[in-house]
Amino acid sequence: MSAKTTGIRRVLMARARRLRMPRHGIVYAGCCVVLAMLGLCGYSLYQSRNDAMSRALDSSRDVATITERDIARNFELYALSLQAVADGLARPGVLDSPRLRREILFDRAATGQYVGAMVVIDAGGNVVMDSENDAGLGGNLSDRPYFRIHRDDPDFGLDVSAPYTSRLRPGSRSIALSRRLSRADGSFAGIVALGIDEGYFTSLFADLRLGQHGSVSVIRTDGTIIVRRPDGQNLSGRNINNTQFFHKLLAQDEGSFVADSPLDGTERLYSFRRIQGLPLIVLIAESTADIYASWWERAVVIGSLTFIFGIGVVVLSAWLAAELRRRQRVELELERLAGTDGLTNLPNRRALCETLDREWLRARRTGSVLSLLFVDIDHFKAYNDTYGHQAGDVALIEVACCIRKVILRPADCVGRYGGEEFIVVLPDTDTAGAAVVAENIRVAIGGLGITHVGCEFGRVTVSIGATTWWPDMETDVSVVIRAADEALYSAKARGRNVVAQMGVG
Ligand code: GH3
Ligand code: MG
Ligand code: MG
Repeated sequence: MSAKTTGIRRVLMARARRLRMPRHGIVYAGCCVVLAMLGLCGYSLYQSRNDAMSRALDSSRDVATITERDIARNFELYALSLQAVADGLARPGVLDSPRLRREILFDRAATGQYVGAMVVIDAGGNVVMDSENDAGLGGNLSDRPYFRIHRDDPDFGLDVSAPYTSRLRPGSRSIALSRRLSRADGSFAGIVALGIDEGYFTSLFADLRLGQHGSVSVIRTDGTIIVRRPDGQNLSGRNINNTQFFHKLLAQDEGSFVADSPLDGTERLYSFRRIQGLPLIVLIAESTADIYASWWERAVVIGSLTFIFGIGVVVLSAWLAAELRRRQRVELELERLAGTDGLTNLPNRRALCETLDREWLRARRTGSVLSLLFVDIDHFKAYNDTYGHQAGDVALIEVACCIRKVILRPADCVGRYGGEEFIVVLPDTDTAGAAVVAENIRVAIGGLGITHVGCEFGRVTVSIGATTWWPDMETDVSVVIRAADEALYSAKARGRNVVAQMGVG
């Protein structure tokens, strides 16, 4: 069916376009819900990731603070012991009496599981006495860096040495806490040193839980690693002062940062603190993989569920949209069928009247003219009687097709009014135009040459009543139909196969 003959079809198409909106809307709404859901999920995961880091930061700072205080307090006691020995050595006669030596020098010496011997070394580097052995362990320690430091710098104060394997007590790895001994004239008299076993740090760090890849280190301010736990790579004694990483530790007294380890390349969160009064830095490290481990587990579960749910929502909305589209198609088809004549496929009376009403109102609104043709097949009852009802149906279809072909303008519309009667609506067509169209229809149908012996013309012909109106507020559309019908009656009266016009125009 061509557009020019079916105003109804145009109406239906416009309605279909309007109906398409909610269909797409469902998919858009579904996508928006999914996006909002993904956004919320992403935001909450991002926040919980930040929370995990923030908790780790707080806890590593706390651990650094507690560790720093513990070491500072203990080392302060050790420093006091060294000071006591230095003061005692200045007292006359102390060195001559073994009893005095023990009582005065070492009675305040620190003791403990990890505190080693306190030794007094003379200016030549010889161990002249120690707290554990009256006779002294002997040996010369003049090559030890801590000895040379005090010998060369009178103002050095308290030194904490790099870790070394004890020569006096083989097998034990220790650090030495030392201070200078000066004579009355200020010249170098030797040093007093206290060995502290590495086990002190090991036990201090034993219960720290820093994750699978975490570590805790004590580093000297010259970059020497005093101790590191765990120490699978035997890092104790290694110097890292030429690394960017170490410079960050020196920049402030305390701080935190995330960086790749210069030792094993693992990314870690580092919190460090300078140990008060000592050339040491305590460094707590927790790997970012450990920090985010449980967050990752949660994120994978929540993310996967959200993703699956999101896909479900999109699929559901697409299914709903498809279902809606199918229903709309069915509705449109039903609507089309409800307005279509089953035999001729032209708009039926109902649809025709709708078109006529609409065109009537439009013409009244725009002040334009409207023409109507009432087309009636002549002697059709006789045709049926002669050729049978089926042949009559075929003839009706041919006549319908013929009228449809004759009317040319897109706005023109033809429909089956009932039986063998058709109405043609011609918007914006005046009397002259209506006469031309009507005559064209009459001639074209006659030209079909459908034999009709019961008709005086020997073939199927039509009579046409035409009317033309300028719709006004007073006139009703039924008046126009009636006028066209009267014109048709007049055409029949004039002998059929003619066009008769009636109405204003
Ligand atoms: P007139 O020239 O005065 O119009 O005479 P007519 O016989 O055409 O008019 P009448 O109203 O007496 O008869 C109309 C006939 O149209 C009656 C009926 O047999 C026939 N008709 C109506 N609808 C159909 C249809 O759907 N199919 C067929 N085959 N015939 C139809
Ligand atoms: Mg009739
Ligand atoms: Mg008739």
